[in-house]
Amino acid sequence: MRITFLGTGTSHGVPVIGCACGVCRSTDPRNKRSRASVLVETHGQTLLIDVAPEFRLQAVAHNVHHADAMLLTHAHADHIGGLDDVRIFSERSGRHFPIYGPSAALARVRERFDYAFRKTQIGGGKPRLDLHAVVRPFHIKTLRVEPLPVWHGRLKVFGYRLGSFAYITDVSKIPEATYPKLKNLDVLVLDALRHQPHETHFHVARALEEARRIGAQKTYFTHLCHLLEHRKTQAELPKNVFLAYDGLRLMLPEPA
Ligand SMILES: [Zn+2]
Ligand SMILES: [Zn+2]
Ligand SMILES: [Zn+2]
Repeated sequence: MRITFLGTGTSHGVPVIGCACGVCRSTDPRNKRSRASVLVETHGQTLLIDVAPEFRLQAVAHNVHHADAMLLTHAHADHIGGLDDVRIFSERSGRHFPIYGPSAALARVRERFDYAFRKTQIGGGKPRLDLHAVVRPFHIKTLRVEPLPVWHGRLKVFGYRLGSFAYITDVSKIPEATYPKLKNLDVLVLDALRHQPHETHFHVARALEEARRIGAQKTYFTHLCHLLEHRKTQAELPKNVFLAYDGLRLMLPEPA
């Protein structure tokens, strides 16, 4: 199973528009963060988790030629902004593009991208989407996907587990019932917005506590803002915790 971090930034992205701070002006490519999303290649399938506003640029930069389906964590703008661009996949395959996610988030997608669901003139211009509300573990062909319910402020959102990989972006609290689903992970990806606490996101100290409790072999932090300089922050982390960066690729065992 191969994981590609397409984006690792918080909702503003880094650099932030009009910001002249050291991180926003940094020439280290690891300090340039487009909005958060990952690509998972496994079981002969290519899946997106979320689709950032920069999706087209991310796909071109990382040679993403194809995607079979998408897992949606929640419908905040930074996680669905690039949805129109998945139309290339339904155009090529001739099939609707499946999106799996919490029903409330899918309802937002239906509102925000209403034109995709209305019958209008035939043209090349619309993504053809199939929305599948999920609650419990489900399969995409042979691949088992386990939703991981977590709190993002007052919003109930999903992370996802695929084999020994778990992706939890945008989280401020993990409910007790979700911890048993996080055992025996090779890789955990976790929200770590910045050093200062935040109402709807884990900050670095909290994410470290959670990483210790969950005990994955390796933990990668994502959804990072411009207050975290890559090299400096990485140097302060324990040896099995890493800051993710755009373009980072990880190889994991193929899920059963
Ligand atoms: Zn977000
Ligand atoms: Zn800045
Ligand atoms: Zn969010």
